[in-house]
Amino acid sequence: MASPELSVIIPVHNESANIAPLCARLLPVLNRLTPVWEIIFVDDGSPDDTLALIKVQSLREPRIGAVSFSRNFGKEVAIAAGLDHVRGDAVVIMDADLQHPPEMIEAFVAKWREGYLMVYGQRTDRSDETRVKRGFAHLFYRLFSRFGEISLPEGAGDFRLIDRKGVEVLRTLGEKARFSKGLYAWIGFKSTGVPFVVEDRLHGTTQWSFRKLFRFAFDGIASFSTVPLRVWTYLGTLISICSIATATYFLVSTLLFGTDLPGFPSLIVSLTFFSGVQLLSLGIIGEYVGRIFAEVKRRPLYVVAERVGTAAEVSTSLV
Ligand code: UDP
Ligand code: MG
Repeated sequence: MASPELSVIIPVHNESANIAPLCARLLPVLNRLTPVWEIIFVDDGSPDDTLALIKVQSLREPRIGAVSFSRNFGKEVAIAAGLDHVRGDAVVIMDADLQHPPEMIEAFVAKWREGYLMVYGQRTDRSDETRVKRGFAHLFYRLFSRFGEISLPEGAGDFRLIDRKGVEVLRTLGEKARFSKGLYAWIGFKSTGVPFVVEDRLHGTTQWSFRKLFRFAFDGIASFSTVPLRVWTYLGTLISICSIATATYFLVSTLLFGTDLPGFPSLIVSLTFFSGVQLLSLGIIGEYVGRIFAEVKRRPLYVVAERVGTAAEVSTSLV
């Protein structure tokens, strides 16, 4: 089979209800663009019959393949696995829930043919999300561009097209705590955004809880910045200066006016406050140490249980 011009990576976890409608909408778009395309689904350890339904699609259309994980490894890792298994000159990453309109791929490919090596979908409105979530998203982008070594285009997610050159670079980045958005920005290349409106999820519910999103945001900042570590140096210096100042004040006032043993509440407050600061700073250091630990173990990013269709031609190794 000829190497495809266009590959599409779709990470899926419990998306059985979305597979058929997605294929029905995506295939005509791809056929209009080029005869040589492929779709690689990455089944992220779905306990439901997602994989079986993908196999049905793959039997009907041999240009559809799949990689199935041995368990749930998370969307970021699923994307990494997809990048390892596609062969296209241009690679599109999209969600399975039809929140990323397949028709946008035509606009992506047009930009790619114009010479852009990275084309990202940029969501224009986040009105489907709660105010709090939007507020946090905005805060995150601001923090990231302030502290991170790179800046992220706001509203750009995983829905994007990446040229083969970019894909090869991304594949060399083997970090375990993967923050794809940051990695896409880190590799650079001539990039552009195409605005799009996020549609409602077709079936099922999002698997991103608030806790997961927070974790994800911290992961993002921690993998691209050491500011959370350095901030304690500055804070420590500031606190030391304050304590020297108060010590001087107490010394002078005791010498001048004698002592009447006051200050028990202030003692307790400062004691608890500084214990808190110490624990917090230790916690932040712990987060980074944990990341170092995850990296030095050098475990593979994912374990493949099965490869279906074209994905099996690319690799036959265990992982
Ligand atoms: N997904 C995945 N592994 C996971 C969770 C989600 O591969 O552990 C996939 C999911 O099937 C979907 C995409 O990632 O295709 C986006 O997930 P979701 O719609 O839950 O996220 P949201 O759209 O809310 O960002
Ligand atoms: Mg979604």
